[in-house]
Amino acid sequence: MSKSTQKEFSITFWGTRGTLATPDAQCNRAGGNTVCIEVRCGEQTIICDAGTGIRLLGSKIVSENKHKNLHLLLSHAHYDHIEGIPFFSPLFSKDITVDIWCGKLDGSSDTKKAVEGFMRRPYFPVGPDIFGEKTNYHLLKEKETIQISDEIRVETIPLVHPGGATAYRINYDGRSFAYVTDTEHTPGKTNQLIVDFISGAEVFVYDASLTDEELPDFVGYGHSTWQEGLRLAKLAKVKQYFAFHHMPFRNDSDLDRFEKHIAKSLPGSGIARETQTIFI
Ligand SMILES: [Zn+2]
Ligand SMILES: [Zn+2]
Repeated sequence: MSKSTQKEFSITFWGTRGTLATPDAQCNRAGGNTVCIEVRCGEQTIICDAGTGIRLLGSKIVSENKHKNLHLLLSHAHYDHIEGIPFFSPLFSKDITVDIWCGKLDGSSDTKKAVEGFMRRPYFPVGPDIFGEKTNYHLLKEKETIQISDEIRVETIPLVHPGGATAYRINYDGRSFAYVTDTEHTPGKTNQLIVDFISGAEVFVYDASLTDEELPDFVGYGHSTWQEGLRLAKLAKVKQYFAFHHMPFRNDSDLDRFEKHIAKSLPGSGIARETQTIFI
């Protein structure tokens, strides 16, 4: 099938920063908002994580005035992945159903409880009951598959992260997008579960918080490196790889340097930048 007859399948980065929002002039080009990706599968919109970047995405979705239902896939409930939830305007709409999915996390028995856990006093003035009745919470079993529609299938695997985290692979119209953050690897040891999971994906986004050189100082933090992302991408024969979840201490010139290596090794690949759209 030629590209022109394919259905639209794209991702847009609304937040690429991990750990903490970084509104720093030295980081502007990669962006300062915490993690959020919009995935368009034809008319359906799926969102990966709800960091601060989800605020502007929510405004865009509401102004488009055509969405009936959205799916929000949470990797886990660390602040950088959920802190935008109370500011996501579709949650206040009477017309839009929002299904929020998350895997089992340490310290929380279900997905609504995980959201309630941070939307409560003294941390926040109101709880998630302020959202419309069209908000649904789902707890994923390990390696559960979600059939969003006849054409959209989402697979999951657990990641190596303190308290737990889930990776998602969105399959649509014969193509795939793999979203894999936050996770730690052991140097020199391939995570075969991830290789199998991302195998042959058109686009692969990976936790590239660190460098191989930095990793020994961050053992147990639950993060990986841009070099490991590249190794996994090549082993799994993915087409394009984007290094993601940039640390607050990582400035644009650092990231430009990483991108040169990545693009040379796997053409069309690079680092994730806020507002950038990738057609799958
Ligand atoms: Zn994170
Ligand atoms: Zn995390």
